[in-house]
Amino acid sequence: MLHEGSVKPPLPRAERSPLFGRSPHGYREAVSRQMRLLVIEDDRALVAALCDGLAARGFAVDRAPSAESAFDLLRLNPYDLVVLDVGLPGVDGLTLLRTLRGHENPVPVLVLTARGEVADRVAGLDAGADDYLTKPFAFPELVARVHALLRRRAPAAPAVLRVGDLELDPRRFQVRRGALPVSLTAKEFAILEYFMRHAGELVTRTMLLESCWDENYDGLSNLVDVHVSRVRRKIEVAGAPPLLHTIRGAGFVLDERGR
Ligand code: CA
Repeated sequence: MLHEGSVKPPLPRAERSPLFGRSPHGYREAVSRQMRLLVIEDDRALVAALCDGLAARGFAVDRAPSAESAFDLLRLNPYDLVVLDVGLPGVDGLTLLRTLRGHENPVPVLVLTARGEVADRVAGLDAGADDYLTKPFAFPELVARVHALLRRRAPAAPAVLRVGDLELDPRRFQVRRGALPVSLTAKEFAILEYFMRHAGELVTRTMLLESCWDENYDGLSNLVDVHVSRVRRKIEVAGAPPLLHTIRGAGFVLDERGR
């Protein structure tokens, strides 16, 4: 079970990158890329467990230890969902939530409340929460609630994506090239899904960074290229036409026609 830890050292303020200042993605397009979550919680042990667990499920996760730092991130980034602890130092979670809704920010919010505080739950729903969980809770329960909230908002269940004989099933987390199963990490899957949803279009490194990485990526270097190379190695098959093409100086195109 996840619960408040006994030691509560302050979390460093979330690092911010100017790259994420102006995301080109609209809210409705969110389903076509990796889901991006913001976890607002001051308990260091709990937030680490939540963020690690959610990242392992393929979400891009940012964290904020206070309402103040959360406001900064919410202004900068279009999140698909917010996990919000009511008990925060300084400005409390419900005040943050009322402020968000006051600004007509529709982001789904899952509120975390302390055990037995019925008044908190009622107040949370009144303040605009979409769902709530009482601490302590089991992690799978949180994941189930997160998926339910994201589904509720998603326009339609994503169908299987196809480019040539390459198939990606977002719901089953499966990829095949022809009859061959392709095994990808969560990150590689997110990258390939992004390419497939933009098949035939130029995809730049910045687009991939904004869609498939959270704010803790380690610098600009060749991070994207390394991951794209891994995806390419896994999906390209000897004897079959290449699908993922590098456009020198611009980015990449996933396309079944030769280039
Ligand atoms: Ca707390």
